[in-house]
Amino acid sequence: MPAELHVFTCLSDNIGVLFRDASTGACASIDAPEAPPIIAALDEKGWKLTDILVTHRHGDHVGGVEELKRRYKARVVAPAQEAGSIPAVDVAVKEGDKVLVGSLSGKVIATPGHTAGHIAYYFEGAKALFAGDTLFALGCGRVFEGSHGDMWQSLQKLAALPDDTRLYCGHEYTLANARFALAVDPGNASLKLRAAVVEGTRADGRLTIPSMMGEEKTTNPFLRATDPAIARRVGKEVSDPVAVFTALREWKNRF
Ligand SMILES: [Zn+2]
Repeated sequence: MPAELHVFTCLSDNIGVLFRDASTGACASIDAPEAPPIIAALDEKGWKLTDILVTHRHGDHVGGVEELKRRYKARVVAPAQEAGSIPAVDVAVKEGDKVLVGSLSGKVIATPGHTAGHIAYYFEGAKALFAGDTLFALGCGRVFEGSHGDMWQSLQKLAALPDDTRLYCGHEYTLANARFALAVDPGNASLKLRAAVVEGTRADGRLTIPSMMGEEKTTNPFLRATDPAIARRVGKEVSDPVAVFTALREWKNRF
C-alpha cells in the first residue's frame, strides 16, 4: 500500500499535510488551516483532494474546511465530540473507529487534553501518525481543556506506537521546543545531537516534520516524565509522572 506524503507551511507556523494513496489516487488533507496553500500544494503535486481529516475544532485547523469541501467535494471526517463546532462534517468518529483514505486504513485514537474531543489518526500500514496539537516534535500541546492527567494519558497512548512511526504534528514549533528540552534535560546526548540538527534544518528554511516516534521517546521531555533526572529537575517524585508532566507543562508555558 504505497502512501505518499507532502508537508508544507500554512498560516504562520501550522503544518499542512497531504496524505495520498497512490493505488487509488485518494488524497487527504490532515486538518485544513487555510485553503490557499493546500490548493497550491495539490496543484503542484497534481493530486485531487478526496478527504479532510480533522483533529480538533480550533480555527487554525479548520479555517479552510468549507472552501476545500466546496471546491473538491471532499469528505470531512472529524471528532464526534466536537462535530458541532467544526464546519461541514460528513463523518463523526471516535476512539477505535476505522478511517479509510482510498485503500489506506487508519484508526482513530482519542487524545483529550488540548481540547476535550481531540483525536489523532494512526495509519499503521503507512507508519504515519497525525497527532494534531497533542504531540509535537520535541514538545506537546497546551492543556486547554481536560486535566494534565488526561493529556499525560493521551501522550502515553501515542508513545506506545512503534518507533518507526512518522509523527506529523500540527505546528512547526520544533526549534523553540528544542531550546526548552535542553533546559529540562541538559545531560541527554541524543537530545543535544537532535537539537543541533533542528537548528540547521530551520536555518536552511526547511521543516523539521515529520520526526520519528523512536526519537521522540528518547528526546521529547513530555514523554519522559518517568525519567528520574527529569523528575529531579522539576522537584517531583518519579513515582508520580502526572505531577512531573504538569510541572514540565507549566514551566514551558512560562519559558
Ligand atoms: Zn489547537
